[in-house]
Amino acid sequence: MLYKRSSALFAEAKKYIPGGVNSPVRAFNSVGGEPIFVKQAKGAYIYDEDDRTYIDYIASWGPMILGHAFEPVVNSVIEKAALGTSFGIPTKIETDIAKLAISMVPNIDKIRFVNSGTEACMSAVRLARGFTSKDKIIKFAGCYHGHSDSFLIQAGSGAVTFGSPNSPGVTQGTAKDTLLANYNDLESVKQLIDANAGEIAAIILEPVAGNMGCVIPQEGFLKGLRGLCDQHEILLIFDEVMTGFRLAKGGAQEFLGIDADIVTFGKVIGGGLPVGAFAARDEIMSFLAPLGPVYQAGTLSGNPLAMAAGFAMLNHLSQNPEVFQSLTDKTAYLHKGLQQALSKTQVPNTINTIGSMISVHFTEEVVDFKTAANGNNEYFKKFFHGMLREGIYLPPSAFESWFLNDALSYQDLDRTIEAASKVVNSF
Ligand code: PMP
Repeated sequence: MLYKRSSALFAEAKKYIPGGVNSPVRAFNSVGGEPIFVKQAKGAYIYDEDDRTYIDYIASWGPMILGHAFEPVVNSVIEKAALGTSFGIPTKIETDIAKLAISMVPNIDKIRFVNSGTEACMSAVRLARGFTSKDKIIKFAGCYHGHSDSFLIQAGSGAVTFGSPNSPGVTQGTAKDTLLANYNDLESVKQLIDANAGEIAAIILEPVAGNMGCVIPQEGFLKGLRGLCDQHEILLIFDEVMTGFRLAKGGAQEFLGIDADIVTFGKVIGGGLPVGAFAARDEIMSFLAPLGPVYQAGTLSGNPLAMAAGFAMLNHLSQNPEVFQSLTDKTAYLHKGLQQALSKTQVPNTINTIGSMISVHFTEEVVDFKTAANGNNEYFKKFFHGMLREGIYLPPSAFESWFLNDALSYQDLDRTIEAASKVVNSF
């Protein structure tokens, strides 16, 4: 049995942890079978408890942009840990990382650190409501902004996978303030704005969606949203939890040339430790406590270990901006190779790629949640497990983007392409 020890560990975990996991997508419910348990990881590779090696395409769902156990990050955490792991009192490193992040990202004057992407998005919306004195928000079907109540309205990835787009526990009262539009469909946004004139505080979206697989904004879509926001005094929130410090030093704002009013971060910004952040211009951020009336807090926010990891990561990226081009080149190479490998299958497929985000949908063109949901999930399951057996770790859901890391070599990419070819030919 290939995954004997993982299987035993999963059985034990299920006795004590709901479903055996601390975040649902890890349980493989969408692809069937049982998860592998990771023992350690280095560079582009993860090693499981059965001593199998995998080329990793999730990079901890994004943070490991420079590969696993990246030495400057690991060393910074070790050094900091020896000095005490949490104080709840200000530390210099919080200012160091804030200053660095602000220097890298366009359009932001101040940044507040939190502990997850969920917290970042939840706080950004509260801030937008406080700033505009309006209650409603527009989100897009298939975009995921964490698991706080107002976002669990047709959320992507895990929530879709589990067929519970409106989770029990989210009240009708909360749901009524979240209006749903279709990604890449400006008309659907205009209709919502017209029907709720003067009531919309913010439009929140993933500027490149990664939670319905990778879905790319079409020409004019983001610019159109910016225009509508300006026209109707609505704040535009870019959820850059996936795209921030990944598509470019300055994230999607820089990469796509569109300014947002509030930006949220997670993943890369914490170098693999639990960190999120939200940022905006002074005028907006000064509404936040203790300066302003909008309350937001966190005992472990700005934790020294997390800040040390994040600082080491951002520092490396700002000193080595060629990383972004290198990642883009590797992703384009993988795209081309996969396209050739998949041309041998009769099943329609489309590969969406932008920067270092890529995903394979087993359907024709994918531009929004509806078209993503048309994907042939049975085929994806077989593809996923075939790749896993070949030592390639893909996201265990068709509704997730793959993330490349810069430790991947062209040899690793070739091995991945060969594996894809072998897998699709075996069906
Ligand atoms: N926003 C986006 C775009 C995400 O992809 C995620 C998580 N995958 C979140 C927010 C929530 O982040 P977290 O899981 O750290 O709470």
